[in-house]
Amino acid sequence: MRRPLVAGNWKMHGTRASVAELIEELRQLEFPAEVEVAVFPGSLHIAQVVAGLAAGAVKVGAQNCAVQAEQGALTGELATSQLVDAGCELVLVGHSERRLILGESDEAVIRKFAAAQVAGLVPVLCLGETREQREAGATLDVVGAQLAAVIDALGVESLAKAVVAYEPVWAIGTGLTATPEQAQQVHAAIRAQVAQADAEVASGLRILYGGSVKAASAAELFGMQDIDGGLVGGASLNADEFGAICRAAGN
Ligand code: PEP
Repeated sequence: MRRPLVAGNWKMHGTRASVAELIEELRQLEFPAEVEVAVFPGSLHIAQVVAGLAAGAVKVGAQNCAVQAEQGALTGELATSQLVDAGCELVLVGHSERRLILGESDEAVIRKFAAAQVAGLVPVLCLGETREQREAGATLDVVGAQLAAVIDALGVESLAKAVVAYEPVWAIGTGLTATPEQAQQVHAAIRAQVAQADAEVASGLRILYGGSVKAASAAELFGMQDIDGGLVGGASLNADEFGAICRAAGN
């Protein structure tokens, strides 16, 4: 039985004041015990969120990390050991905004994934195709290649302590959501690809869907066989909406 995970990616949003408000609102919510909940604030606010949500049910993650676990001369980056020291338990790796806007390569994604695990963070590996790639019928090839890059470099066993998030780029922040059937098709392909290498790792692997998830669409998406929760961007900035999405994952 895979425990659903709902992860809120706050992206480059928030001030100390607005983050304080959101923390307070999250503290008022009751999350279903069977659902794991995590939020990913911007780096500046990680300490504030860790302190504000202390001893609560919500885990804190980072949106990015350096390619190494150890501290060192790498201006502007955060070593994964520093993220652990700050109270993070997870980290997003390979979000499409980093791959496509900031030019993050598969090689960097692999190194960040490995650095996360060295430090004891759970990497949330983001995969997804662009609209052009979907229209060209290349979705499964693109997502399969992004996943294969990690499996080939780090071994399928590296996925035993990781989470995968399928996030079609055309659905992120656009209000367009993949249909449950479209998402399920890709999730099933991801699980089958992992199963080819290790059936046990595949059956335990949590695969989240991300892309304009809202309370109204969450239950149907999360009801699909291979969808184990969501990576939620915009809607995670609204505590009530985020709470409703978390409850949908518990049903
Ligand atoms: C995301 O950034 O991972 C995401 C899914 O964003 P949104 O929910 O806003 O589409």
